[in-house]
Amino acid sequence: MNSLKDFIVNGDKKIKLKNFATTPDDSISKEKIVKKTKANLEEMEKFQDKLYSEGKEGLVLIFQAMDAAGKDSTIKNVMSGLNPQGIDVHSFKQPSGEEAAHSFLWRAIKRFPTRGKMAIFNRSYYEDVLVVKVHKLYETAKMPNRCKQGDIIERRYKDIKNFEEYEYNNGYRIIKFFLNVSKDEQKKRFLERIDLKIKNWKFSSSDLKERAHWDKYMQAYEDAINATASEHSPWYVLPADKKWYTRYLVSEAVLDVFKKIAPQYPKLDEDAQKRLQADREILMSEENS
Ligand code: ATP
Ligand code: MG
Repeated sequence: MNSLKDFIVNGDKKIKLKNFATTPDDSISKEKIVKKTKANLEEMEKFQDKLYSEGKEGLVLIFQAMDAAGKDSTIKNVMSGLNPQGIDVHSFKQPSGEEAAHSFLWRAIKRFPTRGKMAIFNRSYYEDVLVVKVHKLYETAKMPNRCKQGDIIERRYKDIKNFEEYEYNNGYRIIKFFLNVSKDEQKKRFLERIDLKIKNWKFSSSDLKERAHWDKYMQAYEDAINATASEHSPWYVLPADKKWYTRYLVSEAVLDVFKKIAPQYPKLDEDAQKRLQADREILMSEENS
């Protein structure tokens, strides 16, 4: 497993999460990868500038993972290569009263960027087929019984797939990252959060409660990935035990989608070109003061 294509899931066949690595191959050099990531981040900024100037296509990057898999630091790294004016980050926590009183995609739709801009979702509507599935939270949701009968989660997979295709048909691309951290590495990171004073704020006992459901979460992720991966809206199941490698693969995936979008600076028509030249002359004829 050496290149991005080893980690892409685009719906052409069903995957098993246990077949995906959580660490880079031994042959991979950290030093080289870090250099490549830096170059990728610079290239990303150029693409983003074109995306913004053209204003035709919007891009949404979704990050999903178990606690301590590195969502926050990966997002920080992606952002470091981008112009903050063209991108917003949203964290999706437990739904507020108003959010819970709406259909599950509502709060995400509200956060979609205008075309030309990007958004990063730290968690997303996928929580509604992950934590909601693991804890059967739909059972206590204030909804008519007909909505809970049969397999509500299967219906939501279809809703998500249709929604992502709908967004694609309206000029958006959505790519989804699952940061695949191992259970051992999560333990190590939790212990560090407990042992290091400056990291204490990052730890919450509720993280341990979720860890106890690890296998159920892995099944929920596998099912959700298989049900919602598509050519236009692929999943990337990325090794997350080494942050430098996750960051590199994310930058590769973002570059890949930028290349598909292929944004171009708008070209001025002849009249606009003439106006520019006229404005140039006005500027040049100003007297030096
Ligand atoms: P961090 O712990 O790194 O600050 P986080 O994303 O884990 O980031 P928390 O505030 O710890 O943020 O947790 C948010 C919680 O909200 C998660 O446990 C997540 O599963 C939960 N959540 C998100 N969306 C939903 C939803 N639709 N229904 C129920 N719970 C949700
Ligand atoms: Mg958390």
